Amino acid sequence: MNTNKKTLRKKPIIIAGPCAAESEEQIEIAIREGKQRKIDFLRVNLWKPRTKPGFDGLGKEGIPLLVKVAKADINPALEVITPEHAKMVMDAVLPMLRKDGRLLLWIGSRNQNHLIQREIARIASKDQRVYLLVKNQPWVSEEHWEGIIGHVLSGGIRKVNLINCHRGFMPNGHNPLGLRNVPDFAMAMKIKEKTKVPILFDPSHTGGIVENVLKMAQEAAQYPFDGIIVEVHHNPKGALTDAKQQLTWKQFDKLLKPNLN
Ligand code: PEP
Ligand code: MN
Repeated sequence: MNTNKKTLRKKPIIIAGPCAAESEEQIEIAIREGKQRKIDFLRVNLWKPRTKPGFDGLGKEGIPLLVKVAKADINPALEVITPEHAKMVMDAVLPMLRKDGRLLLWIGSRNQNHLIQREIARIASKDQRVYLLVKNQPWVSEEHWEGIIGHVLSGGIRKVNLINCHRGFMPNGHNPLGLRNVPDFAMAMKIKEKTKVPILFDPSHTGGIVENVLKMAQEAAQYPFDGIIVEVHHNPKGALTDAKQQLTWKQFDKLLKPNLN
């Protein structure tokens, strides 16, 4: 990460963990690995938007896993697709957070109904320990992306609790690396400048395969992003979703410190 004066935060925000929560064992390992590395938030994702029917997350059955994470003194992060998800998660997790604990909810790329975005933001804004992260929409449009930030702010979320995220745009034409989603770093920096909201980069959903995830992280390091969100799994080959792009924890270490052997 480039830590020149344009970063809005002193310390980069690091979010890592599996694409989706799958089992208690997987989350126990993730808690251990995540704590060792002092990451800011652990991905414990319960609801997955899917292109085709398939494993779409543990849903509310997975809420005890969020509680386990909060009790282990590591901050959980997950996508909420509906306002009901946001409320359900906040009701279960907030009373269990340890001192200085935080909860991060995010609005995914495919969730482009502004009424839902605003309502999720309204619910999240009720507790200052809740951070809201928004990912850019799948198609290329600076105006739409800026609009998402506008919608969630109009829902009452404070800027200090808001984080933006660039996860690339659906490929359309030039894509020599065969990326899953193509980043537009210049646009991301423009949005950051205009909105003054910290912005993370997502090398996982841009890269799509491990080799490209590492390349994307390296490329993004030339820009003043305020952190990253990365998919990491103890056994990527056995993952139920996004198996090709999830890093092992060792690969994640290398992504953070490319000079490690
Ligand atoms: C995710 O981070 O799990 C995800 C589905 O990403 P996106 O919404 O960017 O596709
Ligand atoms: Mn994923």
